[in-house]
Formats: sequence, C-alpha cells, structure tokens
Amino acid sequence: MREARCTVDTADTFSQIWTAFEAVHVLPACAWCGQIRIDEARLTPPPAALAAIDPRYTFSHSICERCATAYAGTAATLADRDRRS
Ligand SMILES: [Zn+2]
Repeated sequence: MREARCTVDTADTFSQIWTAFEAVHVLPACAWCGQIRIDEARLTPPPAALAAIDPRYTFSHSICERCATAYAGTAATLADRDRRS
C-alpha cells in the first residue's frame, strides 16, 4: 500500500491545523516522527502552527504505519539479540 505524501504547502498545513484547533477537532499525530494525518496525507506540522495552537487538545498521538513498520523491525532485531544472549 502506498503512503500518502505531503503535497500541500506550509500555509495550507497551518490553515488546516488552525481550522481543526478552532473547531475542536482532534488530528491523529505520530508520537514517533511527529507527523500529523489530515485527509489521508501525512504532514509535518510547521513550528508556527504548533506555537499557535495547544497541541494537547488538537493532536491525539498514536503511531503511523511507517514508524510502526520500523519499530516492528527494531523490536524483532532486539528480541532476536536477546534470544542469542
Ligand atoms: Zn511516524
């Protein structure tokens, strides 16, 4: 499955985050890489947007597919290492 990539500019991202904040909508955010998901696109929030809103009430943290895949690989490597020691 292909992952949606960011195709919007920083002003659009800021606007979408601000709109969600004002509407008290919660946006999913990855606790590992910090990207947020808006309309199936994964975006890195601009620092100005993070400064303008209260992320505690706007972002709900989980893990994105890319980080989950990387984490699963790391966890498998560590588990394998632990089995050998
Ligand atoms: Zn991530």
